[in-house]
Amino acid sequence: KGARLPAERKNSRLTVLSGPSGVGKSTVVAELRRRSPEIWISVSVTTRRPRPGEVNGREYHFVNDAEFDRMVGAGELLEWAEFAGNKYGTPAEPVRQRLDAGLPTLLEIDLTGSRQVREVMKDDALFVFLEPPSWAELVRRLTGRGTEPADVVERRLAVAREELAAAGEFDVTLVNTSIDEVCRQMVTLINSLP
Ligand code: 5GP
Repeated sequence: KGARLPAERKNSRLTVLSGPSGVGKSTVVAELRRRSPEIWISVSVTTRRPRPGEVNGREYHFVNDAEFDRMVGAGELLEWAEFAGNKYGTPAEPVRQRLDAGLPTLLEIDLTGSRQVREVMKDDALFVFLEPPSWAELVRRLTGRGTEPADVVERRLAVAREELAAAGEFDVTLVNTSIDEVCRQMVTLINSLP
């Protein structure tokens, strides 16, 4: 647990942050964007509707199904996954450019996506799993957001239960007890990539 640096063994500057929905990944990423602008954070494409406060091109590129499918067909996505009825994917080209330039690069994606990135990158990216302090806390966060209808929350809980069991596949597990602490651990990890 914590930042005990398997990062030194990696051969790219790619970090993948994953973990169950509702654990606070996007809050961590928003805070990292504010604090550490030198870390480039990939902007995913999604077919989900924007939530209040989300800006097209900042949190996501919001696209329709036809455009998403075109990108998949054209091989433009490094990975993609369907999550709770919507599609999400990582545009490959910007990530490739950043890594070719040797610059720190961060993806925040679901478990299915992180497994696809592992297929491509093998052991050359750092895979970080963000865990909730407890299951009860995760349920509270998933039901408390109030932005999704009940059936969507149900689906997310089912996915989250499965995703929690995957922590062992990752290089590092961070427990999200405090955003500040997790951000500091993330920066330490990312900066220790060769
Ligand atoms: P949300 O709708 O709450 O923003 O995101 C739902 C889930 O999709 C989260 O677990 C988030 O990490 C994941 N996600 C966001 N972007 C991507 C992506 O580009 N690829 C994959 N595979 N998952 C993503």
